Amino acid sequence: MSVRIRSDLEKLPAYVAGRTVPGSVKLASNEVSAGPLPSVVEAITRAAHDVHRYPDMAATELVATLAERLEVTTDRIAVGCGSVALCQQIVQATCEPGDEVVFPWRSFEAYPILTRVAGAEEVRVPLTPEQELDLEAMLRAITPATRVVFVCTPNNPTGTSLRREDLEAFLRRVPSEVVVVLDEAYREFVTDPEAPDGVELTRQRDNVVSLRTFSKAYGLAGLRVGYAVGAPEIITALRKVYIPFSVNAVAQRAAVASLSATTELERRCAEIATERTRVREALLELGYEVPPSEANFVWLPLGEGSAAFDEHCAEHRVVVRAFAGDGVRITIGSPEENDALLKAAASFR
Ligand SMILES: *Cc1c(COP(=O)(O)O)cnc(C)c1O
Repeated sequence: MSVRIRSDLEKLPAYVAGRTVPGSVKLASNEVSAGPLPSVVEAITRAAHDVHRYPDMAATELVATLAERLEVTTDRIAVGCGSVALCQQIVQATCEPGDEVVFPWRSFEAYPILTRVAGAEEVRVPLTPEQELDLEAMLRAITPATRVVFVCTPNNPTGTSLRREDLEAFLRRVPSEVVVVLDEAYREFVTDPEAPDGVELTRQRDNVVSLRTFSKAYGLAGLRVGYAVGAPEIITALRKVYIPFSVNAVAQRAAVASLSATTELERRCAEIATERTRVREALLELGYEVPPSEANFVWLPLGEGSAAFDEHCAEHRVVVRAFAGDGVRITIGSPEENDALLKAAASFR
């Protein structure tokens, strides 16, 4: 006799993490190459002395600091063990078996997994030929069974960002009982003045929640902390399905310190945006199709050629992230790392 596991788990796709290959440049997981901000490393070291204590369940200091920075009240903020946990909490808090979750595809690969784990139905809406979210098609996909719509902007893995105007028009047409999740994991890298600010939109609509993270621009992917901003009704529900103590004490202290390192953060993001432009232009010059990116990565829609490109880069000691049959996502690293990538890309085909 073997134990009884839910039979539907067998068909669940596994989350594929970017590979780490010793001796190779890793441009596969949208991490920042420069590491945590220097002032934050000190806060992490100090926090190590207190890890025999449980973390503050309410993350009081972090929530208060975020509230002050974002100019919202503390009842509009929830923290989570990475923003991926908050994605899961939203689905858990809204969906019963059979309810529907609408999301663009391709997009963040956690969406289908956490939807199915919650027993909900996934509704994938293909991107436009320009690799952008198809908001019209997403509206058409909403049914009375829809509880959540994920809107990832800039979209992982294509890097494309929505325009504020288009997103606002979309939000006006989504039924007010459907939760719209604006997944803004890459918000800090955005330079387009036409791009939306999700937190701003949460002030206008009670069914909109913005998710942000310390994993990407702030360089704390290994510590696991993100946050949600939205109406108190949604935030209260998120807190109900929070796994107790899952945002650890070191992460809380590091996140608070990160919010004071504004100058360091802005300098880093500006450098990445400059490199993003350089890498994209060089790839275009080499004849690749590269949609404009507002994130810390670029996307090559290579279709069936994706696996070959991935292998070719690996031979040149550069690890990228291929999505079979669709394309390859390349994280923007340091100038030297990007040069290694460009060299590999130049010798492909
Ligand atoms: C990386 C990422 C996240 C989650 O990051 P966490 O490390 O869990 O905070 C969420 N959404 C998107 C689109 C991402 O790319």
